[in-house]
Amino acid sequence: MTDLDRYAVFGHPVQHSLSPQIHQAFAEQTGQRLAYARLWAPLDGFEAVLRAFVAGGGRGANVTVPFKFEALRLATRRSARAELAQAANVLSFDGEEIHADNSDGVGLVRDIEANAGCALAGRRVLLIGAGGAGAGVLGPLLEAAPAELTLVNRTDERAQDLVLRHDELARGCGVRLRTASLHAPGTAFDVVINASASSLEGATASPVAETVLRPGTLAVDLMYGPKAQPFLDWAQRHGAQPRDGLGMLVEQAAEAFAAWRGVRPQTAPVLAALRALKG
Ligand code: NAP
Repeated sequence: MTDLDRYAVFGHPVQHSLSPQIHQAFAEQTGQRLAYARLWAPLDGFEAVLRAFVAGGGRGANVTVPFKFEALRLATRRSARAELAQAANVLSFDGEEIHADNSDGVGLVRDIEANAGCALAGRRVLLIGAGGAGAGVLGPLLEAAPAELTLVNRTDERAQDLVLRHDELARGCGVRLRTASLHAPGTAFDVVINASASSLEGATASPVAETVLRPGTLAVDLMYGPKAQPFLDWAQRHGAQPRDGLGMLVEQAAEAFAAWRGVRPQTAPVLAALRALKG
C-alpha cells in the first residue's frame, strides 16, 4: 500500500464521511491507483495532523467542518474562489507548497443544473446560511447568473459581510444580490437552498416559512441522510421539488479528483450507487 498516492479527508467528526467511498469509486472507474483515508483531528490540532500527513507523503486532502477556514489560512497558494469564500475544502500538496481550493460551489451548481435539470440563469434564488458552506457556494451561484439572489442568515451581520465581499462579482454577473431577515426573506422563489446547519442540528423543519416556496420550487438542503428528511418532507408538503446534498457531495468530490489526478470521473454512476446503498 505504501507506494500508492495518499489522500485523506480531515474533519471533526469525520467517521461519517462518504469521501473515501466516493474517491475509491472514482479511482476504480478511471483506473487510478490511490489510497484515501479518514483523518480525525482534535479541534486545536488540525495543523499538526495535516503537516504530519504531508510529511508522510500525502498528495491531497479534503477538509470538512470545522477546519475549512483554517485550511485556507495554512495554504501558500489560494484559488480565487477559495479566497472569495475565505474557506477551502480541497488542498493539494507539492513540496513545501499547499494549494487551497473550494469545490463546494461548483459542486452545488453542477448538481442543480446538470443532475436536477434546473438552469439557474434568470431565476430567483434564496440562499439560507452564511457559514462555511454558504460562503463556499455563493460565488459559483452568482456566476450561474440568476436574476436575483437573496441571502439570509440567523446572524444578520455574517450575511451582510458575505454580500459585501461578493458585491463586485454580483454586479459583474448582472445579479441583484441582497440580504434579508430570516423571518422575512421574501416569497415564491424558484430555488431555495438551505446551506445552514439547521438540519445537521436536528431541526424538525426549515429555518424559513413555507411562503418562500411556490409549486415546483427546487428546495435543496446541503445535508444528506436521515437528518435532511424533515426539510425534504417540509418542501414536499408545500408542493416544492425536494433535493438533498448527496449530489453536491459527489460533484464537489469529482472537482477535487479532477484537480488531483488530471482526469474527470463520471459522477452519475457513483451517485446512483450511493443512493441505492442508502435505500
Ligand atoms: P458552519 O460553518 O458551522 O455554519 C453554520 C451555518 O448555519 C451558519 O450560517 C449558522 O448561522 C447557521 N445555523 C446553524 N444552526 C442554525 C439553525 N438552527 N437555524 C438557522 N441557521 C442555523 O457549517 P457549514 O460548513 O456552513 O455547513 C452547513 C451545512 O452544510 C451542514 O449541514 C453541512 O453538513 C452541509 N454541507 C454539505 C456539503 C455537501 O457536499 N453536501 C458541503 C458542505 C457543507 P450563524 O451564522 O447565525 O451561526
